[in-house]
Amino acid sequence: MNIAFIGLGNMGGPMAANLVKAGHRVVGFDVVPEALEKARAAGVETAATGADAAAGAELVVTMLPSGRHLLDAYQGGLLAAAAPDTLFLDCSTVDVADARAARELAVGAGHRAADAPVSGGTVGAEAGTLTFMVGGDEADFAQAEPLLQVMGATVVHCGASGAGQAAKVCNNMILGVSMIAVSEAFVLAERLGLSHQALFDVASRSSGQCWALTTNCPVPGPVPASPANRDYAPGFMGALMSKDLQLALNAIEATGTAAELGPLAAGIYRRYAEEGGAQTDFSGIINTIREASA
Ligand code: NAD
Repeated sequence: MNIAFIGLGNMGGPMAANLVKAGHRVVGFDVVPEALEKARAAGVETAATGADAAAGAELVVTMLPSGRHLLDAYQGGLLAAAAPDTLFLDCSTVDVADARAARELAVGAGHRAADAPVSGGTVGAEAGTLTFMVGGDEADFAQAEPLLQVMGATVVHCGASGAGQAAKVCNNMILGVSMIAVSEAFVLAERLGLSHQALFDVASRSSGQCWALTTNCPVPGPVPASPANRDYAPGFMGALMSKDLQLALNAIEATGTAAELGPLAAGIYRRYAEEGGAQTDFSGIINTIREASA
C-alpha cells in the first residue's frame, strides 16, 4: 500500500519503519530534518512537504504533538493534495472535539477519516505492540485494521468518530489518578514504618492491584523493570501525562461530568511537569509527595 506518514517523531518514526518492514511504501514528512534523516535510514522515503507526501497516497497517517498541529496540517495542504476519497488516520493524542473537527474537515474535502490514538509508548512503537483505539466508520476501520495490526498488537474499534480519543482520555485518567493513589500509599507506608516490599506483596494480590502498582511501580525494588529502578528515566513522561489529563479535563468540562479526582490529578501533574518532572517518568510524582510530607 502507498502510505503517507506525517510526523516522524519518537512514536511516528518507529511506526513508519514497521510499515516499511511489512512491505508497504511509506512516504514520510516531518518539519524537523533529523527526524527525516532517521526515517530515511529506516527505509522511509521522504517528501519536501506534507502535501507532497499525501499526493498519491491511499492512506495518510498523522502522528503529531497536538490537535492544533493536526488541524493546521489538514488545512495546510494535506487534505487539498490527497486524491479524492483518501483515508486519513490520525494516531496522535488530541481532544475529542479536535478529532471530530478534523474528521469534519476531511469529509468536507471529499475524504474519509478516523481517529486511532495509541497506548504503549515508544517501546511499543518500536516493537510493533501498540494498542490502537479507533473511532470511525466500520468500512474505514476494516481498511485500516491490517495496517494497525502491523504497528500494534491490540486493535479495538471503539465506535464512531472521536470514540478512539474518548477511550484514550478515559484510560489515561484512570492511569493518572491510580499512579497518584499508589504513590500516596507508598509514602504513607514509609511514614507508618511499613516496607515497600510488604505493601507491594499485599496490595499486588489484593484489591489495590493495578498497572501503576504492578507494572510501573513508583518505588525501586518490587518491579525491577519499572522506571523507579533507573532514576525515573521515562517510560511515560510527566509532560505527556499532564497533556493527557488536560484533554480529560476538557472532556469533563465539555460533558458536565461530575468528576472530582480527574481534575485534581490534572492539577497535580500540571505542577509536576512545570516543576521539573516534564521529562521524567510520571511515577516520579512519588518524590513530590515524599518531599511535601517531610
Ligand atoms: P514527538 O514530538 O516526538 O513527535 C511529533 C513529531 O511531529 C515531531 O517530530 C515534530 O517535528 C512533528 N511535527 C510537528 N508539526 C508537524 C507538521 N506540521 N508536519 C509534519 N511533522 C510535524 O512526539 P511523540 O512522542 O512521537 O508523540 C506523538 C503523539 O503521540 C502525541 O500526540 C502524543 O501525545 C502521542 N503519544 C505519545 C506517546 C509516547 O510515549 N511518546 C504514547 C502515546 C501517545
